[in-house]
Amino acid sequence: MPSSASAAAKNAAPPLPEPLRVPVADSHTHLDMQSGTVEEALAKAASVGVTTVVQVGCDVKGSRWAAETAATHDAVHATVALHPNEAPRIVLGDPDGWSRQGARHPGGDAALDEALAEIDRLAALPHVKGVGETGLDYFRTGPEGKEAQERSFRAHIEIAKRHGKALVIHDRDAHADVLRVLAEEGAPERTVFHCYSGDAEMAEVCARAGYFMSFAGNMTFKNAQPLRDALAVAPLELVLVETDAPFLTPAPYRGRPNAPYLVPVTVRAMAAVRGIDEDTLAASISANTGRAFDY
Ligand SMILES: [Zn+2]
Ligand SMILES: [Zn+2]
Repeated sequence: MPSSASAAAKNAAPPLPEPLRVPVADSHTHLDMQSGTVEEALAKAASVGVTTVVQVGCDVKGSRWAAETAATHDAVHATVALHPNEAPRIVLGDPDGWSRQGARHPGGDAALDEALAEIDRLAALPHVKGVGETGLDYFRTGPEGKEAQERSFRAHIEIAKRHGKALVIHDRDAHADVLRVLAEEGAPERTVFHCYSGDAEMAEVCARAGYFMSFAGNMTFKNAQPLRDALAVAPLELVLVETDAPFLTPAPYRGRPNAPYLVPVTVRAMAAVRGIDEDTLAASISANTGRAFDY
């Protein structure tokens, strides 16, 4: 095969998995970063038993879009937030252009307050079921952005509690500080660690606090034994599944575009880790996601 053809195959959408017999929700996805229309993504997902998705906002524009999409699609619930890498970008500007919206001029603390006020307004809407993804990311944000990131995280916790919405946590290389800030502020009644990335010991801490742990496609990766160990000890009633699509495509499709229709691949890998059948796990995940986001 010519190299261009094999490169195309590597970028192609993975095939449809066998449908789940018990429908589940993708607890965390970014439809606005995936190719195709929302209707196509939802139909494809529903055809394999993924009948509900939680559309997650990462900035003001994306949060507005999530709220609108949830208002016009029964299968979609929204969460709204400034991503932990977005908050410092608003305050300090974006020299590296990580944002899909490109570089920005620094706006300072006032710009962050203005953006948070819009998130607060959106969080009140009935189709918005959560506030997030928020939290701490020490992988992409350096020490210069730490203060803005933590201030934004604390503000999101307060917004979630005031509106009685779920809190969706993004925690990258920041476990101890995320747990500390949650304890200091007092976590909302329903808190979800999206793309759970801690080990078994942290899973026990989350279990004691009643935090939901949402597992993504990276739990299938060869080097992810600590994640599988965490899943093995997490209380079943706190376990969710997500794609975080278009990122984190499960094995054996790692590196190809992810989408909600690939949830069954991860559910099957999770069932194997738990040593339970996929229907039992799917039924539990389905109930847990409804409880987490109160829908
Ligand atoms: Zn995230
Ligand atoms: Zn995400």
